[in-house]
Amino acid sequence: AKEAGKQTYRVFSPEMNQKVAKYIWLDTELRKAIEEKQFVLHYQPLINLCTGRLHSVEALLRWQSTSRGLVPPSEFIRFTEESGLIIPIGRWLMREAAWQAARWHEAGLDIRVSVNVSARQLRDTEIVNQLRDLVEQDSAARTLIDIELTESCFIEDERAAIDLMRQFKQLGARILLDDFGTGYSSLSQLTRLPIDVIKLDRSFITGIDQNFQAQSLVRSVLGLARAFGFAIVAEGVETEREAQFLRDIGVDYAQGFFYAKPMPAEALEAWLLDKKK
Ligand code: C2E
Ligand code: CA
Ligand code: CA
Ligand code: CA
Repeated sequence: AKEAGKQTYRVFSPEMNQKVAKYIWLDTELRKAIEEKQFVLHYQPLINLCTGRLHSVEALLRWQSTSRGLVPPSEFIRFTEESGLIIPIGRWLMREAAWQAARWHEAGLDIRVSVNVSARQLRDTEIVNQLRDLVEQDSAARTLIDIELTESCFIEDERAAIDLMRQFKQLGARILLDDFGTGYSSLSQLTRLPIDVIKLDRSFITGIDQNFQAQSLVRSVLGLARAFGFAIVAEGVETEREAQFLRDIGVDYAQGFFYAKPMPAEALEAWLLDKKK
């Protein structure tokens, strides 16, 4: 206890110094990354459990760092949300995803692409204007871009968030509610939100074939989805047994390493060709 008491008088502990140094480093590196276009999108398939065919893909951000190689979003996304860098990154990301969807469309592949949008990005309406500009430039974007939001987007100002969702929908986007079950929203709140798809968080899906509690939760969300016209995606499906169980109870779509990992656009094209054989 004496030790701890002493420590509270220190302004910067060695750990804090390290943290500050890391933040400064990250900030510099990420600003450079934006300028030098070091970000890439990987795409992970969502599978229609009824037909076994591709339903859409989710665009997932990667940072191709010169010093650290391919960096996953878990190591920098939160920081970009706090510092505001997510705004320019998100702007690039939306353009890139729409560009990719349009190239696939030209090649005869109609692949819907869902883009993750964080609460920070919903604080201003610029994000909707970006999608509007893209739709005006390339009409294919109208039917090919979807938006993934988390429950945290509705905490601060639910009405404003709902208003933005409606604007997205007018531009042809569908709204997916991401990581469902990990946040605060109740089932009744769901019925107020203009969402099209609920993505059940991986924590409920892992081992679901053997977990009765998770099974009853997923069944009740399914019942609600049927009543209100949402579709359901199971995230993080890793085994055949999980996939089988989810199909049997009537879940619409699945995403996870059992089907495919997130991959660059060209790899996705090869994966699709291989799947058709
Ligand atoms: P998320 O939106 O829930 O994305 C799904 C994450 O689960 C991805 O991690 C994906 O690679 C991983 N995943 C998919 N299937 C499986 C599976 O079967 N098993 C396991 N263990 N994991 C699986 P990733 O790409 O590292 O992204 C992590 C999070 O970073 C995302 O979670 C999302 O919250 C955030 N993120 C990624 N890209 C963006 C972006 O462009 N914008 C924003 N705002 N956030 C992003
Ligand atoms: Ca997501
Ligand atoms: Ca998710
Ligand atoms: Ca997540």
